[in-house]
Amino acid sequence: MAMFDEARPLREIFNFTQEQFAHDSVLFDLYKTTVDQNILYLVIPKKCLRYDVSRVGSLMAALVAWAAIELLQPDLMINMGTAGGFQSKGAKIGDVYLADKATYHDREFHPIRDAFKKYSVGDYPVCFDEKWVTALALKKGIVSSGNRMLLIDADAKQMEKNQAVAKDMEAAAIAEVTELKNIPIIILKSITDLVDIKQSSHEQFDQNFHLAVEQLIKKAQGLILLLGK
Ligand code: SAH
Repeated sequence: MAMFDEARPLREIFNFTQEQFAHDSVLFDLYKTTVDQNILYLVIPKKCLRYDVSRVGSLMAALVAWAAIELLQPDLMINMGTAGGFQSKGAKIGDVYLADKATYHDREFHPIRDAFKKYSVGDYPVCFDEKWVTALALKKGIVSSGNRMLLIDADAKQMEKNQAVAKDMEAAAIAEVTELKNIPIIILKSITDLVDIKQSSHEQFDQNFHLAVEQLIKKAQGLILLLGK
């Protein structure tokens, strides 16, 4: 998870305790718990001390995903967090989406060459099961990532092409790493803001954060219990 405030309720519900590890990393904080005999780790990038903020965004997400996989050798990764949604696609604040694919929408390496156009979008596979959608009353679709909170026209156009239903800053970067490492990944995102209404995303994010995180944690709890069976 990218942000400490997103993860706090999950830490409490599952009784996570903080772990010290041998090569104590400058990159992330690590928490551990056991659910149904499965070991569950929670990994969060360390706060940026220089600016006192969570290190959100694709760069730290990829670095931390890589380092955590090297350290923990997990069987499965879950990237959980918040995202922007589209009113025009039926999203409501607090809806939780299970990704069926992960794309980028803010990259362009070559405007014409087809291979580079595809590479810029990424289109990474994720672990998805219609049964989880039904059992947990989730929404589903493509989660698209970019390093901009506010939606600009170019990103909006690319998201449309990607057929994205949710907009975040980390999912694709983590899915790119898990593809390299050959580890399945589940992506679960709760809607804090609607990117196609007048009120700005960052204002909505602040207003709706608690509600969205509450919903995220409910669904995450359900998913983790389902996976343990
Ligand atoms: N304003 C926030 C900044 C967090 S950045 C704050 O004060 O803390 C936004 C984080 O939420 C990222 O981790 C991103 O993945 C997610 N997110 C939520 N809504 C988003 C949106 N509309 N666009 C992109 N990322 C969004």
